[in-house]
Amino acid sequence: MSLDELTAIELRNEIVAKRIGSVEATRAILDRIERIDPTVGAYLSVFRDRAIQAAEAVDRRIAAGETVGLLAGVPVAVKDVMCTSFGATTCGSRILEDFHAPYDATAVRKLLTADAVVLGKTNMDEFAMGSSTENSGLKRTVNPWDTSRVPGGSSGGSAAAVAARMCFAALGSDTGGSIRQPASFCGVVGLKPTYGRISRYGLVAYGSSLDQIGPFGRTVADTALMLKVIAGHDPADSTSVAEDVAPVEDYLAKLDEPVEGLRIGVASAFNAGADPAVRQAVDQAVDGYRGAGAQVVEVAMPHLDYAIAAYYVIATAEASSNLARYDGVHYGHRTKNPADYVEVYSKSREEAFGQEVKRRIMLGTYALSSGYYDAYYLKALKVRNLIRGDFVKAFEWCDCIAMPVAPTTAFKLGEKVDDPLKMYLSDIYTIAVNLAGVPGISVPCGFDDAGLPIGLQLIGPAFSETKLLRIARMHEARTDWHTRRPVAVGQITA
Ligand code: GLN
Repeated sequence: MSLDELTAIELRNEIVAKRIGSVEATRAILDRIERIDPTVGAYLSVFRDRAIQAAEAVDRRIAAGETVGLLAGVPVAVKDVMCTSFGATTCGSRILEDFHAPYDATAVRKLLTADAVVLGKTNMDEFAMGSSTENSGLKRTVNPWDTSRVPGGSSGGSAAAVAARMCFAALGSDTGGSIRQPASFCGVVGLKPTYGRISRYGLVAYGSSLDQIGPFGRTVADTALMLKVIAGHDPADSTSVAEDVAPVEDYLAKLDEPVEGLRIGVASAFNAGADPAVRQAVDQAVDGYRGAGAQVVEVAMPHLDYAIAAYYVIATAEASSNLARYDGVHYGHRTKNPADYVEVYSKSREEAFGQEVKRRIMLGTYALSSGYYDAYYLKALKVRNLIRGDFVKAFEWCDCIAMPVAPTTAFKLGEKVDDPLKMYLSDIYTIAVNLAGVPGISVPCGFDDAGLPIGLQLIGPAFSETKLLRIARMHEARTDWHTRRPVAVGQITA
Protein backbone atom coordinates (compact mmCIF):
# COMPACT_ATOMS: atom_id res chain seq x y z
CA MET A 1 0.00 0.00 0.00
CA SER A 2 1.23 3.49 -0.77
CA LEU A 3 1.79 5.38 2.42
CA ASP A 4 1.29 8.56 0.41
CA GLU A 5 -2.38 7.92 -0.01
CA LEU A 6 -3.04 7.40 3.67
CA THR A 7 -4.20 10.24 5.87
CA ALA A 8 -3.02 10.44 9.47
CA ILE A 9 -6.33 8.96 10.62
CA GLU A 10 -6.11 6.09 8.14
CA LEU A 11 -2.51 5.37 9.07
CA ARG A 12 -3.45 5.27 12.75
CA ASN A 13 -6.23 2.80 11.95
CA GLU A 14 -3.83 0.62 9.96
CA ILE A 15 -1.31 0.68 12.78
CA VAL A 16 -3.88 -0.16 15.44
CA ALA A 17 -5.23 -2.97 13.26
CA LYS A 18 -1.63 -4.25 12.94
CA ARG A 19 -1.73 -4.05 9.16
CA ILE A 20 1.12 -1.54 9.10
CA GLY A 21 3.75 -1.23 11.79
CA SER A 22 4.49 2.21 13.11
CA VAL A 23 8.17 1.32 12.76
CA GLU A 24 7.65 0.50 9.10
CA ALA A 25 5.79 3.78 8.46
CA THR A 26 8.26 5.83 10.49
CA ARG A 27 11.26 4.32 8.68
CA ALA A 28 9.67 4.96 5.30
CA ILE A 29 9.07 8.62 6.16
CA LEU A 30 12.56 9.02 7.62
CA ASP A 31 14.04 7.58 4.43
CA ARG A 32 11.98 9.97 2.42
CA ILE A 33 13.21 12.89 4.52
CA GLU A 34 16.75 11.73 3.88
CA ARG A 35 16.05 11.61 0.16
CA ILE A 36 14.14 14.81 -0.46
CA ASP A 37 14.74 17.15 2.45
CA PRO A 38 18.17 18.13 1.16
CA THR A 39 16.11 19.78 -1.63
CA VAL A 40 13.08 21.03 0.32
CA GLY A 41 14.81 22.02 3.57
CA ALA A 42 11.75 21.63 5.79
CA TYR A 43 13.52 20.21 8.85
CA LEU A 44 16.03 21.88 11.13
CA SER A 45 16.50 18.66 13.09
CA VAL A 46 15.42 15.05 12.66
CA PHE A 47 15.34 12.65 15.60
CA ARG A 48 15.84 9.39 13.72
CA ASP A 49 16.71 7.04 16.58
CA ARG A 50 14.26 8.60 18.97
CA ALA A 51 11.46 8.35 16.41
CA ILE A 52 12.15 4.69 15.67
CA GLN A 53 12.26 3.90 19.39
CA ALA A 54 8.95 5.67 19.93
CA ALA A 55 7.43 3.76 17.01
CA GLU A 56 8.74 0.45 18.38
CA ALA A 57 7.18 1.24 21.74
CA VAL A 58 3.78 1.87 20.13
CA ASP A 59 3.98 -1.33 18.07
CA ARG A 60 4.91 -3.29 21.20
CA ARG A 61 2.00 -1.88 23.16
CA ILE A 62 -0.41 -2.66 20.35
CA ALA A 63 0.96 -6.19 20.12
CA ALA A 64 0.39 -6.55 23.88
CA GLY A 65 -3.22 -5.47 23.46
CA GLU A 66 -2.84 -2.19 25.34
CA THR A 67 -4.94 0.84 24.49
CA VAL A 68 -3.06 3.50 22.59
CA GLY A 69 -3.59 7.20 21.94
CA LEU A 70 -5.39 9.04 19.15
CA LEU A 71 -2.20 9.49 17.14
CA ALA A 72 -0.74 6.07 17.87
CA GLY A 73 2.40 5.60 15.83
CA VAL A 74 1.70 8.48 13.43
CA PRO A 75 4.84 10.42 12.38
CA VAL A 76 4.41 14.18 12.92
CA ALA A 77 6.58 17.31 12.89
CA VAL A 78 6.81 20.31 15.21
CA LYS A 79 7.74 23.89 14.32
CA ASP A 80 10.99 24.78 16.03
CA VAL A 81 9.32 27.52 18.06
CA MET A 82 7.94 25.00 20.56
CA CYS A 83 10.14 23.71 23.34
CA THR A 84 11.07 20.05 23.35
CA SER A 85 13.02 18.32 26.08
CA PHE A 86 14.87 16.49 23.30
CA GLY A 87 16.97 18.16 20.61
CA ALA A 88 17.48 21.90 20.19
CA THR A 89 14.77 24.59 20.12
CA THR A 90 16.18 27.27 17.86
CA CYS A 91 13.23 29.43 16.68
CA GLY A 92 15.14 29.62 13.40
CA SER A 93 17.56 31.98 15.12
CA ARG A 94 21.31 31.88 15.52
CA ILE A 95 20.83 33.33 18.99
CA LEU A 96 19.18 30.05 20.10
CA GLU A 97 21.14 27.71 17.84
CA ASP A 98 22.42 25.67 20.77
CA PHE A 99 19.49 26.13 23.12
CA HIS A 100 18.16 22.91 24.63
CA ALA A 101 14.90 23.41 26.47
CA PRO A 102 14.50 21.61 29.78
CA TYR A 103 10.84 20.74 29.17
CA ASP A 104 8.20 20.03 26.51
CA ALA A 105 5.66 22.63 25.42
CA THR A 106 2.17 21.55 26.48
CA ALA A 107 1.09 21.03 22.86
CA VAL A 108 4.12 18.80 22.25
CA ARG A 109 3.51 16.89 25.47
CA LYS A 110 -0.07 16.29 24.35
CA LEU A 111 1.16 14.90 21.01
CA LEU A 112 3.48 12.55 22.89
CA THR A 113 0.72 11.51 25.29
CA ALA A 114 -1.44 10.70 22.24
CA ASP A 115 1.42 8.39 21.12
CA ALA A 116 2.44 10.43 18.07
CA VAL A 117 5.96 9.85 16.77
CA VAL A 118 7.72 13.22 16.67
CA LEU A 119 10.11 13.09 13.71
CA GLY A 120 11.80 16.44 14.05
CA LYS A 121 11.59 20.22 14.30
CA THR A 122 10.79 22.35 11.28
CA ASN A 123 12.28 25.49 9.83
CA MET A 124 10.70 28.91 10.28
CA ASP A 125 11.27 32.63 9.97
CA GLU A 126 13.41 33.76 12.88
CA PHE A 127 11.15 34.07 15.95
CA ALA A 128 8.17 33.63 13.58
CA MET A 129 8.74 37.02 12.01
CA GLY A 130 8.08 36.75 8.31
CA SER A 131 5.89 35.35 5.57
CA SER A 132 8.29 33.25 3.51
CA THR A 133 10.64 31.39 5.91
CA GLU A 134 13.45 33.35 4.22
CA ASN A 135 14.13 35.12 7.52
CA SER A 136 15.35 31.87 9.04
CA GLY A 137 18.87 32.41 10.34
CA LEU A 138 19.65 28.74 9.85
CA LYS A 139 18.31 27.29 6.62
CA ARG A 140 16.42 27.83 3.41
CA THR A 141 13.11 26.06 2.79
CA VAL A 142 11.53 25.86 -0.66
CA ASN A 143 8.02 25.17 -1.85
CA PRO A 144 7.54 21.49 -2.78
CA TRP A 145 5.28 22.52 -5.68
CA ASP A 146 7.99 24.68 -7.24
CA THR A 147 11.42 24.74 -5.71
CA SER A 148 12.15 28.25 -7.02
CA ARG A 149 9.40 29.57 -4.75
CA VAL A 150 8.88 30.19 -1.04
CA PRO A 151 6.78 27.83 1.09
CA GLY A 152 5.19 30.80 2.87
CA GLY A 153 5.87 31.58 6.49
CA SER A 154 6.58 31.77 9.18
CA SER A 155 5.66 28.06 9.63
CA GLY A 156 7.02 27.25 6.15
CA GLY A 157 8.91 24.14 7.28
CA SER A 158 5.83 22.49 8.77
CA ALA A 159 3.66 23.28 5.72
CA ALA A 160 6.32 22.05 3.29
CA ALA A 161 6.86 18.87 5.33
CA VAL A 162 3.14 18.01 5.22
CA ALA A 163 2.85 18.86 1.51
CA ALA A 164 5.92 16.81 0.60
CA ARG A 165 4.71 13.83 2.62
CA MET A 166 7.61 14.12 5.02
CA CYS A 167 5.17 13.76 7.95
CA PHE A 168 1.44 13.09 8.29
CA ALA A 169 0.59 16.23 10.22
CA ALA A 170 2.46 19.04 11.92
CA LEU A 171 2.24 21.86 14.42
CA GLY A 172 2.79 25.50 13.56
CA SER A 173 2.15 28.82 15.24
CA ASP A 174 0.18 31.76 13.90
CA THR A 175 0.61 35.35 15.08
CA GLY A 176 -0.62 37.06 11.94
CA GLY A 177 -1.10 34.28 9.40
CA SER A 178 1.86 31.97 9.89
CA ILE A 179 -0.19 28.76 9.72
CA ARG A 180 -2.83 29.73 7.17
CA GLN A 181 -0.58 31.45 4.63
CA PRO A 182 2.02 28.64 4.30
CA ALA A 183 -0.85 26.12 4.26
CA SER A 184 -2.29 28.03 1.31
CA PHE A 185 1.09 28.28 -0.48
CA CYS A 186 1.78 24.56 0.00
CA GLY A 187 -1.72 23.22 -0.72
CA VAL A 188 -2.48 21.74 2.71
CA VAL A 189 -4.99 22.46 5.48
CA GLY A 190 -3.93 24.81 8.30
CA LEU A 191 -5.94 25.97 11.29
CA LYS A 192 -5.37 28.92 13.58
CA PRO A 193 -7.60 28.16 16.56
CA THR A 194 -9.31 30.73 18.80
CA TYR A 195 -6.89 32.58 21.07
CA GLY A 196 -6.88 30.61 24.31
CA ARG A 197 -7.97 27.30 22.79
CA ILE A 198 -4.47 25.85 22.97
CA SER A 199 -1.90 26.35 25.68
CA ARG A 200 1.00 28.59 24.73
CA TYR A 201 3.13 27.12 27.52
CA GLY A 202 6.46 26.30 25.92
CA LEU A 203 5.71 28.27 22.76
CA VAL A 204 8.50 30.82 22.46
CA ALA A 205 6.71 34.16 22.59
CA TYR A 206 6.63 36.61 19.69
CA GLY A 207 3.43 38.67 20.11
CA SER A 208 1.87 37.09 23.18
CA SER A 209 -1.62 38.55 22.70
CA LEU A 210 -1.71 37.22 19.11
CA ASP A 211 0.29 33.95 19.14
CA GLN A 212 -1.58 30.69 18.85
CA ILE A 213 -0.41 27.14 18.15
CA GLY A 214 -2.34 25.21 15.53
CA PRO A 215 -2.26 22.12 13.31
CA PHE A 216 -1.44 21.39 9.68
CA GLY A 217 -2.92 18.34 7.98
CA ARG A 218 -3.51 17.08 4.48
CA THR A 219 -7.23 16.86 5.18
CA VAL A 220 -9.74 18.68 7.34
CA ALA A 221 -10.29 15.49 9.36
CA ASP A 222 -6.59 15.11 10.18
CA THR A 223 -6.51 18.77 11.20
CA ALA A 224 -9.55 18.23 13.42
CA LEU A 225 -7.89 15.22 15.04
CA MET A 226 -4.71 17.18 15.75
CA LEU A 227 -6.81 19.98 17.29
CA LYS A 228 -8.62 17.50 19.49
CA VAL A 229 -5.30 16.19 20.77
CA ILE A 230 -3.70 19.56 21.57
CA ALA A 231 -6.68 21.68 22.69
CA GLY A 232 -7.67 22.40 26.26
CA HIS A 233 -7.06 24.36 29.42
CA ASP A 234 -3.60 24.35 30.92
CA PRO A 235 -2.92 25.68 34.40
CA ALA A 236 0.54 26.67 33.13
CA ASP A 237 -0.97 29.20 30.68
CA SER A 238 -3.35 31.69 32.26
CA THR A 239 -4.62 32.75 28.82
CA SER A 240 -5.77 29.24 27.95
CA VAL A 241 -9.51 29.10 28.37
CA ALA A 242 -11.16 27.15 31.19
CA GLU A 243 -13.12 24.02 30.29
CA ASP A 244 -16.37 25.34 31.78
CA VAL A 245 -16.15 28.47 29.64
CA ALA A 246 -15.34 26.73 26.37
CA PRO A 247 -15.14 22.95 26.64
CA VAL A 248 -12.99 21.04 24.17
CA GLU A 249 -15.39 19.44 21.74
CA ASP A 250 -15.16 16.31 19.65
CA TYR A 251 -14.18 18.06 16.43
CA LEU A 252 -14.49 14.84 14.47
CA ALA A 253 -17.86 13.58 15.67
CA LYS A 254 -20.06 15.44 13.19
CA LEU A 255 -17.40 16.50 10.73
CA ASP A 256 -19.11 14.94 7.73
CA GLU A 257 -22.52 16.42 8.51
CA PRO A 258 -23.15 19.53 6.40
CA VAL A 259 -24.21 22.62 8.37
CA GLU A 260 -27.94 23.26 7.93
CA GLY A 261 -29.04 26.76 6.95
CA LEU A 262 -25.45 27.82 6.41
CA ARG A 263 -24.80 31.53 5.86
CA ILE A 264 -21.45 32.54 4.40
CA GLY A 265 -20.27 36.14 4.73
CA VAL A 266 -18.24 37.79 1.99
CA ALA A 267 -16.50 41.17 2.14
CA SER A 268 -16.34 41.78 -1.62
CA ALA A 269 -14.60 45.15 -1.58
CA PHE A 270 -11.84 43.85 0.66
CA ASN A 271 -11.33 40.72 -1.43
CA ALA A 272 -10.96 42.74 -4.61
CA GLY A 273 -7.28 43.35 -3.85
CA ALA A 274 -6.32 39.73 -4.48
CA ASP A 275 -4.83 38.42 -7.74
CA PRO A 276 -7.44 37.38 -10.34
CA ALA A 277 -6.59 33.67 -10.07
CA VAL A 278 -6.99 33.80 -6.28
CA ARG A 279 -10.26 35.73 -6.52
CA GLN A 280 -11.62 33.33 -9.05
CA ALA A 281 -10.79 30.26 -6.96
CA VAL A 282 -12.32 31.81 -3.85
CA ASP A 283 -15.44 32.89 -5.77
CA GLN A 284 -15.80 29.38 -7.11
CA ALA A 285 -15.56 27.94 -3.62
CA VAL A 286 -18.25 30.36 -2.43
CA ASP A 287 -20.40 29.39 -5.43
CA GLY A 288 -19.95 25.79 -4.36
CA TYR A 289 -21.45 26.59 -0.97
CA ARG A 290 -24.28 28.44 -2.67
CA GLY A 291 -24.90 25.38 -4.81
CA ALA A 292 -25.06 23.28 -1.64
CA GLY A 293 -27.85 25.50 -0.37
CA ALA A 294 -25.91 28.09 1.62
CA GLN A 295 -26.97 31.70 1.67
CA VAL A 296 -24.21 34.14 0.78
CA VAL A 297 -24.40 37.50 2.51
CA GLU A 298 -22.32 40.62 2.02
CA VAL A 299 -20.62 41.75 5.24
CA ALA A 300 -19.12 45.17 5.86
CA MET A 301 -15.69 45.02 7.44
CA PRO A 302 -14.86 48.73 7.42
CA HIS A 303 -11.76 48.56 9.61
CA LEU A 304 -9.87 45.70 7.99
CA ASP A 305 -7.86 48.13 5.90
CA TYR A 306 -6.13 49.25 9.10
CA ALA A 307 -5.26 45.75 10.31
CA ILE A 308 -1.70 45.63 8.98
CA ALA A 309 -0.81 49.01 10.44
CA ALA A 310 -2.27 48.14 13.84
CA TYR A 311 -0.68 44.70 13.82
CA TYR A 312 2.83 45.94 13.11
CA VAL A 313 2.61 48.31 16.06
CA ILE A 314 1.15 45.77 18.50
CA ALA A 315 3.19 42.75 17.38
CA THR A 316 6.49 44.64 17.35
CA ALA A 317 5.74 46.27 20.72
CA GLU A 318 5.14 42.86 22.27
CA ALA A 319 8.13 41.38 20.47
CA SER A 320 10.47 44.10 21.72
CA SER A 321 9.50 43.17 25.25
CA ASN A 322 9.48 39.39 24.71
CA LEU A 323 12.87 39.38 23.03
CA ALA A 324 14.55 41.36 25.80
CA ARG A 325 15.36 38.04 27.46
CA TYR A 326 17.95 37.17 24.81
CA ASP A 327 20.68 39.09 26.51
CA GLY A 328 23.69 36.80 26.35
CA VAL A 329 23.13 35.93 30.00
CA HIS A 330 19.91 33.95 30.36
CA TYR A 331 19.70 32.15 27.04
CA GLY A 332 21.57 31.38 23.90
CA HIS A 333 24.47 33.06 22.18
CA ARG A 334 26.97 35.08 24.21
CA THR A 335 29.61 37.24 22.57
CA LYS A 336 33.18 36.03 22.99
CA ASN A 337 35.23 39.02 24.18
CA PRO A 338 33.03 41.74 25.65
CA ALA A 339 34.83 44.86 26.85
CA ASP A 340 32.29 45.37 29.64
CA TYR A 341 28.92 44.09 30.78
CA VAL A 342 26.99 46.40 28.44
CA GLU A 343 28.75 44.74 25.54
CA VAL A 344 27.62 41.34 26.76
CA TYR A 345 24.11 42.50 25.93
CA SER A 346 24.69 44.65 22.89
CA LYS A 347 27.21 42.46 21.09
CA SER A 348 25.44 39.19 21.82
CA ARG A 349 22.28 40.64 20.30
CA GLU A 350 24.08 42.39 17.47
CA GLU A 351 25.92 39.21 16.47
CA ALA A 352 23.11 36.70 16.55
CA PHE A 353 19.78 38.41 15.77
CA GLY A 354 18.88 38.72 12.09
CA GLN A 355 17.94 41.95 10.31
CA GLU A 356 14.18 41.56 10.48
CA VAL A 357 14.24 40.78 14.20
CA LYS A 358 16.37 43.86 14.86
CA ARG A 359 14.06 45.99 12.74
CA ARG A 360 11.06 44.86 14.77
CA ILE A 361 12.73 45.32 18.13
CA MET A 362 13.52 48.90 17.11
CA LEU A 363 10.01 49.53 15.80
CA GLY A 364 8.40 48.09 18.92
CA THR A 365 10.70 49.91 21.33
CA TYR A 366 9.93 53.16 19.54
CA ALA A 367 6.17 52.56 19.64
CA LEU A 368 6.31 51.94 23.38
CA SER A 369 8.59 54.82 24.27
CA SER A 370 7.26 57.70 26.30
CA GLY A 371 5.60 60.32 24.15
CA TYR A 372 4.88 57.81 21.39
CA TYR A 373 2.94 55.27 23.41
CA ASP A 374 -0.32 57.21 23.05
CA ALA A 375 0.26 58.10 19.43
CA TYR A 376 1.08 54.57 18.27
CA TYR A 377 0.54 51.76 20.73
CA LEU A 378 -2.65 53.03 22.34
CA LYS A 379 -4.05 54.06 18.96
CA ALA A 380 -3.30 50.60 17.58
CA LEU A 381 -5.13 49.00 20.51
CA LYS A 382 -8.18 51.12 19.71
CA VAL A 383 -8.05 50.05 16.08
CA ARG A 384 -7.78 46.46 17.25
CA ASN A 385 -11.00 46.92 19.18
CA LEU A 386 -12.77 48.30 16.12
CA ILE A 387 -11.59 45.33 14.06
CA ARG A 388 -12.85 42.95 16.71
CA GLY A 389 -16.16 44.82 16.51
CA ASP A 390 -16.29 44.31 12.73
CA PHE A 391 -16.13 40.55 13.27
CA VAL A 392 -18.70 40.56 16.06
CA LYS A 393 -21.13 42.48 13.86
CA ALA A 394 -20.46 40.34 10.81
CA PHE A 395 -21.14 37.15 12.76
CA GLU A 396 -24.63 38.39 13.57
CA TRP A 397 -25.32 37.80 9.87
CA CYS A 398 -23.31 34.73 9.02
CA ASP A 399 -21.78 31.54 10.40
CA CYS A 400 -18.39 32.21 8.87
CA ILE A 401 -16.62 34.62 6.55
CA ALA A 402 -14.96 33.35 3.38
CA MET A 403 -11.98 35.21 1.96
CA PRO A 404 -8.63 34.58 0.35
CA VAL A 405 -5.77 33.49 2.60
CA ALA A 406 -3.21 35.55 0.72
CA PRO A 407 -3.44 37.99 -2.19
CA THR A 408 -1.10 35.83 -4.32
CA THR A 409 0.13 32.28 -4.68
CA ALA A 410 3.66 31.38 -3.56
CA PHE A 411 6.12 34.02 -4.74
CA LYS A 412 9.70 33.54 -5.93
CA LEU A 413 12.54 33.12 -3.47
CA GLY A 414 14.19 36.51 -3.06
CA GLU A 415 11.25 38.39 -4.58
CA LYS A 416 10.19 40.27 -1.45
CA VAL A 417 12.94 39.66 1.01
CA ASP A 418 14.54 43.09 0.55
CA ASP A 419 11.25 44.94 0.73
CA PRO A 420 9.73 44.44 4.20
CA LEU A 421 6.59 46.44 3.42
CA LYS A 422 5.77 44.24 0.43
CA MET A 423 6.34 41.19 2.60
CA TYR A 424 4.05 42.60 5.32
CA LEU A 425 1.29 43.08 2.76
CA SER A 426 1.15 39.38 2.01
CA ASP A 427 -0.66 39.00 5.36
CA ILE A 428 -3.47 41.39 4.55
CA TYR A 429 -6.16 38.69 4.72
CA THR A 430 -4.92 36.81 7.76
CA ILE A 431 -3.75 39.41 10.25
CA ALA A 432 -7.14 40.78 11.36
CA VAL A 433 -8.13 37.30 12.53
CA ASN A 434 -5.34 37.32 15.13
CA LEU A 435 -6.19 40.85 16.22
CA ALA A 436 -9.77 39.67 16.82
CA GLY A 437 -8.65 36.39 18.44
CA VAL A 438 -11.07 34.31 16.36
CA PRO A 439 -10.34 31.04 14.50
CA GLY A 440 -9.44 30.82 10.82
CA ILE A 441 -8.73 27.87 8.57
CA SER A 442 -7.07 27.56 5.17
CA VAL A 443 -8.29 24.80 2.84
CA PRO A 444 -7.06 24.08 -0.70
CA CYS A 445 -9.44 25.60 -3.28
CA GLY A 446 -7.59 25.56 -6.60
CA PHE A 447 -4.41 26.17 -8.53
CA ASP A 448 -3.19 29.09 -10.62
CA ASP A 449 -1.86 28.83 -14.18
CA ALA A 450 1.61 28.09 -12.89
CA GLY A 451 0.26 25.06 -10.99
CA LEU A 452 0.59 26.68 -7.56
CA PRO A 453 -1.96 25.95 -4.84
CA ILE A 454 -4.54 28.51 -3.67
CA GLY A 455 -6.19 28.48 -0.25
CA LEU A 456 -9.68 29.42 0.83
CA GLN A 457 -9.87 31.06 4.24
CA LEU A 458 -12.89 30.49 6.46
CA ILE A 459 -13.16 32.58 9.62
CA GLY A 460 -15.61 31.88 12.44
CA PRO A 461 -16.64 33.35 15.80
CA ALA A 462 -14.55 32.57 18.89
CA PHE A 463 -14.66 28.88 19.87
CA SER A 464 -16.66 27.88 16.78
CA GLU A 465 -14.00 25.36 15.67
CA THR A 466 -16.44 22.45 15.49
CA LYS A 467 -18.68 24.29 13.06
CA LEU A 468 -15.81 25.89 11.16
CA LEU A 469 -14.23 22.51 10.53
CA ARG A 470 -17.57 21.14 9.34
CA ILE A 471 -17.93 24.05 6.93
CA ALA A 472 -14.39 23.46 5.68
CA ARG A 473 -15.19 19.78 5.27
CA MET A 474 -18.27 20.63 3.16
CA HIS A 475 -15.92 22.33 0.69
CA GLU A 476 -13.35 19.55 0.82
CA ALA A 477 -15.98 16.85 0.28
CA ARG A 478 -17.08 18.55 -2.94
CA THR A 479 -13.61 19.10 -4.39
CA ASP A 480 -10.46 17.12 -5.02
CA TRP A 481 -7.82 19.82 -4.66
CA HIS A 482 -6.53 18.28 -1.44
CA THR A 483 -5.81 14.96 -3.17
CA ARG A 484 -3.27 16.45 -5.58
CA ARG A 485 0.34 16.27 -4.62
CA PRO A 486 3.53 17.93 -5.67
CA VAL A 487 4.88 15.60 -8.39
CA ALA A 488 8.46 16.63 -7.75
CA VAL A 489 8.56 14.74 -4.49
CA GLY A 490 7.65 11.33 -5.95
CA GLN A 491 6.02 8.46 -4.09
CA ILE A 492 6.85 6.29 -1.15
CA THR A 493 5.58 2.81 -0.59
CA ALA A 494 5.50 0.56 2.41
N1 GLN B 1 3.99 37.54 8.69
C1 GLN B 1 3.55 38.06 9.94
C2 GLN B 1 4.74 38.61 10.67
O1 GLN B 1 5.77 38.63 10.10
C3 GLN B 1 2.89 36.99 10.76
C4 GLN B 1 3.86 36.01 11.26
C5 GLN B 1 3.23 35.02 12.17
O2 GLN B 1 2.04 34.75 12.10
N2 GLN B 1 4.05 34.48 13.07
O3 GLN B 1 4.68 39.05 11.77
